[in-house]
Amino acid sequence: MQLYKNNTLKIYNSLTGEKELFKPIHEGNVGMYVCGPTVYSNVHLGNVRTFMSFDMIFRYFLHLGYKVRYVRNITDVGHIVDDVDDGEDKIAKKARVEQVEPMEIVQRYTVDFHDVLKQFNFLPPSIEPTATGHIIEQIEIVRQIIEKGYAYETNGSVYFDVVKFNETNHYGKLSGRNIDEMLANTRDTDGQSDKKNPQDFALWKKAEPEHIMRWPSPWGVGFPGWHLECTAMSTKYLGETFDIHGGGMDLKFPHHECEIAQNEACTGHSPVNYWMHANMLTLNGKKMSKSTGNNILPDEIYNGGSPFLSKVFSPNVARFFMMQAHYRSILDFTNDGIIASEKGFNRLMEGIDILKDLQPGSTSTLDIASWQQACYDAMNDDFNTPILIANLFEGIRFVNLIKDGKETLTAADLKTLAETLNTFTFDVIGIKNEKTAANNSDKLEGVVDLLIQMRLEARANKNFALSDQIRDQLAALGIQLKDGKEGTTFSIQ
Ligand code: AMP
Ligand code: ZN
Repeated sequence: MQLYKNNTLKIYNSLTGEKELFKPIHEGNVGMYVCGPTVYSNVHLGNVRTFMSFDMIFRYFLHLGYKVRYVRNITDVGHIVDDVDDGEDKIAKKARVEQVEPMEIVQRYTVDFHDVLKQFNFLPPSIEPTATGHIIEQIEIVRQIIEKGYAYETNGSVYFDVVKFNETNHYGKLSGRNIDEMLANTRDTDGQSDKKNPQDFALWKKAEPEHIMRWPSPWGVGFPGWHLECTAMSTKYLGETFDIHGGGMDLKFPHHECEIAQNEACTGHSPVNYWMHANMLTLNGKKMSKSTGNNILPDEIYNGGSPFLSKVFSPNVARFFMMQAHYRSILDFTNDGIIASEKGFNRLMEGIDILKDLQPGSTSTLDIASWQQACYDAMNDDFNTPILIANLFEGIRFVNLIKDGKETLTAADLKTLAETLNTFTFDVIGIKNEKTAANNSDKLEGVVDLLIQMRLEARANKNFALSDQIRDQLAALGIQLKDGKEGTTFSIQ
């Protein structure tokens, strides 16, 4: 259904600092690019939050009936330690320390990333391109930027000329930085740099002999700069101008600022219509960080082992916890906070369960249409999931009033209530519907009870061959029957 035709969606655009009406370039289609992980270590819960924000956004676009091309890359080369130009590649460094091939590091942490996202019920993006798979495209963009006069080659490396670019364009427009201030505050102390200005950034870096990840190029053997890959892959799969570009707040500068500069230098126009930035996850009020130990790994949520958690939580509860905050707000992770979310989550699930058995009445005493509209209004207001969830709880309040006989709904309204609650909870917020698994275990229990009954009857008829067969075949399947005073019980291994 093309619900987007009846929904006026507003998106906060980081570039303008305003909520703007969303108008895609091609009606009914959305092109969205989100910077993916640098696969040199396990993702932490903070990374998961950023990707989850965009998973929710992707899901809402799909719900509205848009055809979405969602591109989320894998950074497997070019991301230098500390996000600077001179230093070691994060992946190469890890490979050196562990004495393995860089691609072994990439493989290990890409698999880990996918495993984690699966646990949290993420939808896969439409395309997940890698930086190393797009070296030719990146070289081509460097060539074009040099041709347009915005980059220069020195000593086998190519740098983007920020000062030259700023003469005709605005370098700093996304992050609100001023180039003159930046130049005044940074000094090239060693005088050894190949750069004309310290603010210039690498498009292509010469590979020193010890550098393993290297490719031939018109400027010699080297490797691409970090910002370049996203320009190459977004342009390739979404075009020179596309609808949405997202990432974590900390990527605004330098990464996204440099992407804008590269695109504008190449094509003469801005690449993205709506820039979206997700806010950070902190832990007990402090930035989540690997080096200080102030972090939680996703699997510590559901498998335990974290000193910050008093018990384990299902990935569903962690997802619900994150969705209770707006994607542009800082979210502080605390043990008490997730315990409170678990209570809310259980209340929501119980309500949805009760709803299945409610019977319609002849009239409606509740305004379900307005309630449903409020759910859409929340999401249409820059994906406001906390307000949406408050509305879902209002829906659960209705469920309980109907159950207690205090209100009634017609069959049509009851259907709307059920469909809206289910759609937003499972399809949009992305809670995994575990009822299917629970239903299957209910069914299994029913079947085993039936077999226990048949075994009792066989025994009563002195058909011991049959009663033993039932017991033994169940045992072979790992289902143990235990005869006791209270009757026969079973356990499943
Ligand atoms: P990286 O692998 O370091 O490039 O990070 C992957 C994504 O996670 C980026 O979009 C970052 O902005 C985001 N990110 C990093 N730390 C946090 C955090 N503490 N909270 C939320 N997002 C984060
Ligand atoms: Zn990027």
